[in-house]
Amino acid sequence: MDITVVGGGIGGLACAVALVNAGHPVRVVEKRDGLADAGTALGMWPNALRALDRLGLGDKVRHIGVAQAEAVFRRSDGRFLARIRPPEAVVLISRGALTRLLRAALPDGVVETGVEVSDVDELAAGSRAVVGADGIHSVVRKACFGDAYGLRYAGYSAWRGIVKGEYGPPGEIMGHGAKFGVTGVEGGRTNWFAPVWAPAGVRYAGEGLPELHRIFGEWCEPVPRILSLADESDILRHDLCYVAPRLRSYVRDRVALVGDAAHAMTPDLGQGACQALLDGAVLGRCLATMSDTEEALRRYDSLRRKPSQRTAATARQVGLLTMRPRMALARNALLRTGGLLMR
Ligand SMILES: Cc1cc2nc3c(=O)[nH]c(=O)nc-3n(C[C@H](O)[C@H](O)[C@H](O)COP(=O)(O)OP(=O)(O)OC[C@H]3O[C@@H](n4cnc5c(N)ncnc54)[C@H](O)[C@@H]3O)c2cc1C
Repeated sequence: MDITVVGGGIGGLACAVALVNAGHPVRVVEKRDGLADAGTALGMWPNALRALDRLGLGDKVRHIGVAQAEAVFRRSDGRFLARIRPPEAVVLISRGALTRLLRAALPDGVVETGVEVSDVDELAAGSRAVVGADGIHSVVRKACFGDAYGLRYAGYSAWRGIVKGEYGPPGEIMGHGAKFGVTGVEGGRTNWFAPVWAPAGVRYAGEGLPELHRIFGEWCEPVPRILSLADESDILRHDLCYVAPRLRSYVRDRVALVGDAAHAMTPDLGQGACQALLDGAVLGRCLATMSDTEEALRRYDSLRRKPSQRTAATARQVGLLTMRPRMALARNALLRTGGLLMR
């Protein structure tokens, strides 16, 4: 029997590539008519690049994407706070380009689009294993674990987009309960994201650009420049949520969760897609190398649950520290000290 992957996003496709590379039959069902090519840039940190290397795609991602060796942090008036250089560069690549690379590594026919899964038990009955890779609003998570594990609003909402032209420096501009992030992305473009603290009851539900100009219009360059180039129809906006409480297992019977289905996290470390890739690659390898399916799923859970949940918890802490208005002074002081220490 085949392994069925629910969801043709980053984690689901990574799992399918790992299985196909090992010669195992797999079927991916995706509810959209095509694969996701909308969205903005994803930062591939060294952990994800190593997972992509194991899938045979690391060099392609490095070739297409834009390497970012450092991030500069400034205040909204432009005053310098810190320059942070991670030991290895992060590679920025658009969601569309990454999805196409993963998809191209699979033979025709593996991915079936326009198929929305609603009955997980029926699917499990006809498959060796089911991989729930159906994202933050996972129906597989709900089918396996009920309503005990839901989504909790993080307290801030983010706008995102990509504009033509290269504007920098890459990094984050920090305000009071708001920040504006800038990175490169392939094609000589600039990726931007703008989270704003908005506790329940103070939600920014209006149009993107007028609200963005109101909040960020007086900030230092390149913020006004980027907003002047942004196209309302390309702007994404999401209230940011995470899975809570954390799951006690990513596995039930012959069903396993990967990526946002298992541990949707706030984007403050830029690790959501990286962790989804790692989950998919590790689960694919466990299923490919172990003939006992339930043992393979348990092994996956033991390898991936704690590290991914630790990453989610750290992202949450970083989000509270960098986004909460009352933390702004302490955050800036920490950045200045941390930046000095890292020189
Ligand atoms: C503001 C913001 C910035 C971010 N920046 C970064 C970053 O820099 N780096 C990073 O690593 N991550 C980042 N992320 C996180 C990243 O986008 C997600 O963590 C990642 O996409 C999760 O991958 P996934 O495969 O689990 O889910 P998804 O990519 O969401 O894929 C799930 C797929 O399942 C399909 N599906 C859903 N339900 C069904 C169903 N019932 N039947 C069939 N198919 C179904 C969906 O259509 C979708 O294609 C960011 C997120 C946000 C909100």
